[in-house]
Order: sequence, then C-alpha cells, then structure tokens
Amino acid sequence: MQDYIDLFINSFSDYWNYLVKEITTPSWTNYFYWLVGLSLLVFTLEIIKPWRKDQKVLRRDFWLDLFYLFFNFFLFSLVGYNSISNVAVAAFNDGLKSIGIENLVAIELGSLPVWSQLLIMFIIADFIQWNIHRLLHRVPRLWEFHKVHHSIKEMGFAAQFRFHFMETIIYKSLQYIPLAMLGFGIEQFFIVHMLSVFIGHLNHANLSWDYGPLKYIINNPKMHLWHHARDLPADHKYGVNYGLSLSIWDYLFGTAHVPYHDAHLELGFHGDEHYPDSFGEQLVEPFKK
Ligand SMILES: [Zn+2]
Ligand SMILES: [Zn+2]
Repeated sequence: MQDYIDLFINSFSDYWNYLVKEITTPSWTNYFYWLVGLSLLVFTLEIIKPWRKDQKVLRRDFWLDLFYLFFNFFLFSLVGYNSISNVAVAAFNDGLKSIGIENLVAIELGSLPVWSQLLIMFIIADFIQWNIHRLLHRVPRLWEFHKVHHSIKEMGFAAQFRFHFMETIIYKSLQYIPLAMLGFGIEQFFIVHMLSVFIGHLNHANLSWDYGPLKYIINNPKMHLWHHARDLPADHKYGVNYGLSLSIWDYLFGTAHVPYHDAHLELGFHGDEHYPDSFGEQLVEPFKK
C-alpha cells in the first residue's frame, strides 16, 4: 500500500516539474507550444475565412472553452489524473502478475517501421474511441457526463476541449487494455496525439471545410456540426457522426448523417436551455443525477 501512496505523491510532483519544464523549454516535441500553436493557427483560419460570418470572433462561451482547453489538456492531469492512472496501472499489473500473467501483449508490432506503428496506433485508437463515444451517447449515466460537450451552442476550435474530466477517465481506462495488447516498440506517440488535436480543433472550428472526397475518411467541420445538432433524425435517436479523427467508421457502420449543409444548424440537446453555463456548475451537474 505504501508503494502506491509513494507512487501517487511522486507522480504528482513529477507532473508538476514536467509542466514547468514544458512551459520554460520550447522544443519540437513540446505539448504546450504545439497546443498553443495549433490553436492560434485554427483560430486565425476562423477569423480569415469564417463559415458563419455573423458569428463573433470571441463567440459565445469562448473564454469558457479556452479554460476547458487548458484544464483538460494540462491541469486535470496535474490535479490528479496522472497520479491516479499511474497507481491504477501499477495495481492492475500487480493483479495480473498475481494470477501469472506477465504482460498483456498479444500482437507484437515493435519490429515494424516507426511510421507504420504510428499509423496503426492512430487507426486503432480512433476506432476504439469511436466505440466509446457511441457508449457515451447510449448509456444514460455516461450521457450525463457527455452532455457538457453537447451544451455547445456556438462552435469554435476550443469547443473540442469542452468536456467533463470524467470523459478522460472513461476514454483512457476503456482504451487501456486493448492498446496494451499491442506491443509497440516506440514510446513517443506525440505525432499521433497532436494530429488528433489538430483534426479535432478543425472539426469544431467555424470553417466550411469537408476536404472533398477525403470526407469519407477524415472527419471534418461540416460533418461534425451534425453531431452537435439539437434535432436528431428519428432513426438515429442516440446520435450521428460519432467519429473523432476519422469519419470512415460512421460510413462503414451506418451512422453517418450529412443531409445538407447549414452553417446555422441549431446545436445542443433538448432541455439545454436549463443547462448551467459555468465551469464549476458543469463539473457537478452530472453527479447530481
Ligand atoms: Zn457526442
Ligand atoms: Zn464535438
């Protein structure tokens, strides 16, 4: 037990040191500066070529979502996720050892070229996340947490990060076992991570893009807007367009829905007129139900 407590405390201070180092030492594999850079890039595109020309540059909930961006990308890990997950992973591995399992790796990919490992990771992680996203819509308990993301009424790049911190826990824990079953030979999935952030920023941006024929593979602003539609089609009452980075899963499994393009599509969910609009209230709201 003492080991777990030490690990928790060490992870906490390690993460703090890491965060300070990120901000004070810019580099090509620096999460902080890539997040800032990509955010500025997509924000600039929104200003130069907005889809909704009447939408204010500092749109409704702009500052709220900017806070979410830094909270969910950095502070949540700082406040505890990193420590909780290190302990959970250690306890999980100890549990496996006690029943005689040394590791979970079922398929060894470590000998493949780095680029193909990155591609496999990107595709598999995205497919798992597509499934988890569907669960968030289907399971009433999980939907209460996911409602925070669907409380967006005006889209802009930072809206990607408006989600309840429980989503991080749900996604990471459900992904852990399937991804651990693949033996990757590289530790650095920095590129995969930042690529998803970039595509996610674009999906929520005020841009009229769908990448032409690539729209059947890559998720895009015009498609993701329909994911946020307040009125859902009768035959898809839980939702449509669950894709995160890739749209192909929705086309393959019949959940794609882009009937026409409407920049001013009404967003949200039924009953959202009573949904709280501050960070603190949105944090506790799902636990009240
Ligand atoms: Zn959703
Ligand atoms: Zn979204």
